[in-house]
Amino acid sequence: MEKLILFNTLTRVKEEFQPIEQGKAGMYCCGPTVYNFAHIGNLRAYFFEDVLKRVLLYNGYKVKHVVNITDVGHLVSDEDEGEDKMEKGASREGKTVWEIAEFYTEAFKSDIALLNILPPTIWCKATDFIKEQVEMIKCLDEKGYTYITSDGVYYDTAKFPEYGKMALLDIEGLEEGKRIQFSDEKKSKTDFALWKFSPKDRKRQMEWDSPWGTGFPGWHIECSAMSIKFLGNNFDIHCGGVDHIPIHHTNEIAQSEACTGKKFVNYWLHGEFLIEEKGKMSKSEGEFLRLKTLIDKGYSPMDYRYFLLMTHYRKKIKFSFDNLDAARNGFNNMKSRISEIKAVANNNPAESLSGNANAIKERFNACVNDDLNVSEGLAVLWEALKEEGITDAEKFALINDFDKVLGLELNKVEASSGKADIPAEIIALIEKRKEAKKNKDFMLSDKIRSKIKELGYEVLDKKSGDTEILRIKN
Ligand SMILES: [Zn+2]
Repeated sequence: MEKLILFNTLTRVKEEFQPIEQGKAGMYCCGPTVYNFAHIGNLRAYFFEDVLKRVLLYNGYKVKHVVNITDVGHLVSDEDEGEDKMEKGASREGKTVWEIAEFYTEAFKSDIALLNILPPTIWCKATDFIKEQVEMIKCLDEKGYTYITSDGVYYDTAKFPEYGKMALLDIEGLEEGKRIQFSDEKKSKTDFALWKFSPKDRKRQMEWDSPWGTGFPGWHIECSAMSIKFLGNNFDIHCGGVDHIPIHHTNEIAQSEACTGKKFVNYWLHGEFLIEEKGKMSKSEGEFLRLKTLIDKGYSPMDYRYFLLMTHYRKKIKFSFDNLDAARNGFNNMKSRISEIKAVANNNPAESLSGNANAIKERFNACVNDDLNVSEGLAVLWEALKEEGITDAEKFALINDFDKVLGLELNKVEASSGKADIPAEIIALIEKRKEAKKNKDFMLSDKIRSKIKELGYEVLDKKSGDTEILRIKN
């Protein structure tokens, strides 16, 4: 297997990926909280994880990919305070929490399908695994990592000396949040809820019995419980957005490692934000950009995917319609070039590659295996499209191959109609003539041109080095 290098947030360096089990990769990605539509910034995270998964598959790994659906427990603040996002969404729409969970789960799945993001091996909903979450809290309870306050069961972060290691947290210097009043009963600012009690004066729509009282799980415990259930106590890769580093993923590590006594995850990967002129994209201000907004404005989901591919996942992207237009222009140019190539190759990719074509493929592999550098990979695809030393059939083969990683649905680009109906025999002669010209065998190249003419086609050599084929008789 080729060497695959990934930047590990845990160590802050690029490391060679070494799977726990040869040829296999287990990967857990934090999914959406389904109380509203995803905005295009949210979708960037799933796009980055899709690239990671595609690169693993491209390298021959068998990937077990797990994504959770948070349908309970995520409060407006990531720090266990404020309203429940799901209940807030439900009251906004006059529906039950269960109804909005189902609706926005489907909306999310449809968005990622439009973006050609490969579906995970396993989708898991937090409310389907309450038992596993309660079991894990029990385990932490038995090992002495918890304490109880009037509103829930809390994780005592002081008992876990490694706490905050990945996030490089300065525990002493952590400021209390200004907007939301923290519970006085918390022993430390970093302590977090494992189980929250239902309010005494009313029944919540989602609540369950537990050894500590009726209530619901804290947001973080679902990811520990479900990832371990499906991938084991120690697994290969865990991903999410950079915003997950200081709280959510830090808490997942604390819960999981305290409970199992094992290292939780070997490689942590985090994707950067998409930002707007006014800053980080957010749903709290009402109006936000969805994939559907872009589609309504005439962009295709693949235009947006191409736009995302142009920037490395660890860099911020500034979103503006001008930037999206520039990406769309580039993508349109690429598609029309591919369309011509498919026409000349007569929709037949080469079965084997020449030395030149292989060298390009190797360059592509090296880019994407260097911490998922797909923007460089995209540049290599452009080189391939322009390269004169390889045949169109080889270009066609490279397009198909690279698109396994890029995911731009290039297989859907149709051969340009002007050339699509040129017979295979003529195409073969054109390729032969190109070869002859390359070898400076002009006698042979002229002979082939005459032969093509006899068969009813005219070859025009253009200044750019390209050729144009015209039909001269039927
Ligand atoms: Zn998570």
